Amino acid sequence: MRTENLKKWRKELINCTQCGFCKEVCPVFEEIEWDSSAARGRMSLCYGLYCGDIEPDGSVMERLYQCTTCTDCTRRCPSSTAVVDVVEAARKDIVAAGLANEGQKRIAGSIKRFGNPFEETQSREEMLGEAPRQAEIAYYTGCTAAYRNIETAKAGISILKKLNADYTLLDEVCCGSVLSRLGFPDEDIETQVDTNLKAIEATGAKTVLFSCAGCLRMFKKEYPKFRKLPFRVLHFTEWLNEQDITLQPYEKTVTYHDPCHIGRHLGIYEPPRTMIQKIPKVNFVEMKDNREMARCCGGGGGVRSGFPEVAGKIAARRMEQAMIADILVTTCPFCVNNLKMGRDIAQSKVEVRDLLEVIDELLDL
Ligand code: SF4
Ligand code: SF4
Repeated sequence: MRTENLKKWRKELINCTQCGFCKEVCPVFEEIEWDSSAARGRMSLCYGLYCGDIEPDGSVMERLYQCTTCTDCTRRCPSSTAVVDVVEAARKDIVAAGLANEGQKRIAGSIKRFGNPFEETQSREEMLGEAPRQAEIAYYTGCTAAYRNIETAKAGISILKKLNADYTLLDEVCCGSVLSRLGFPDEDIETQVDTNLKAIEATGAKTVLFSCAGCLRMFKKEYPKFRKLPFRVLHFTEWLNEQDITLQPYEKTVTYHDPCHIGRHLGIYEPPRTMIQKIPKVNFVEMKDNREMARCCGGGGGVRSGFPEVAGKIAARRMEQAMIADILVTTCPFCVNNLKMGRDIAQSKVEVRDLLEVIDELLDL
């Protein structure tokens, strides 16, 4: 296999000293317990591929696609090794070699054909009932909220309406996060970038709001590699904190799960917490592992679609930490769905919801 992408990270490949500290935190290693399923194992496999000493056979690809891209290993690593960048480079080489599996090809094909990874044929406008228009603020719902967690997209729209915001929805397509995480080439991602930027430009929006952690990470970290963005990119909770809002009391014990993509990847920890603490009478409690140390929900990096059993076990562990609360809120529909699966496995009674839905319910008119 040619390793053009891994080659760009060759210095990082020798950065790993094989100390093994990452084994303390890797959520996948915690479930599988083979060295090859921890960050250091993945680094060794990538080094082996780069040197041509090993072939990308089924077992190697399984380990490389079992990384949730949570980046907790890099936080723990004494040499700050960029494990996710290396793993994603290896995935790009695997895809370039024509070794993507049928499921991955189907997802990429759906994004090309329908603009979403779910093979959904309805447009966003048909799903959400609003056409794009000229406005100051655009709400980029993302595919999961538009097609799977429509209650989250509707909550976002309802909040914008209740606050009399000059807003619009977008004629958007998938942000490209799935393609990027699975290793599809930059040209495919650039197509998504250009289509979305045109859709935003057509509305004249100066601020774009996101309720999905994965989409936000794409716009903040990956889109600027392709184009300069002429608008503000904010998580919905960041924008809400700028508004003058009054919420009804909520007499429940609430905890917050940091999605890896806005937490460790973007450093957004306080805006959702500030929002929760604005709710009168709420009892906000932190799980044992929070902020930079938060445990992954287990669903990212293609693990939920490729290895649902592993994703479920990781989510169940996170839900065990949440048993201190009546309700766990988070700020990513993908985390919501995976944590709900974990709640069922852990037989937990803790409710799992997107923070936007709770805010919408409590927002005084
Ligand atoms: S903690 Fe860092 S240096 Fe140590 S084995 Fe893991 S990736 Fe390598
Ligand atoms: S990014 Fe997360 S899942 Fe992947 S190797 Fe690092 S700790 Fe493990």
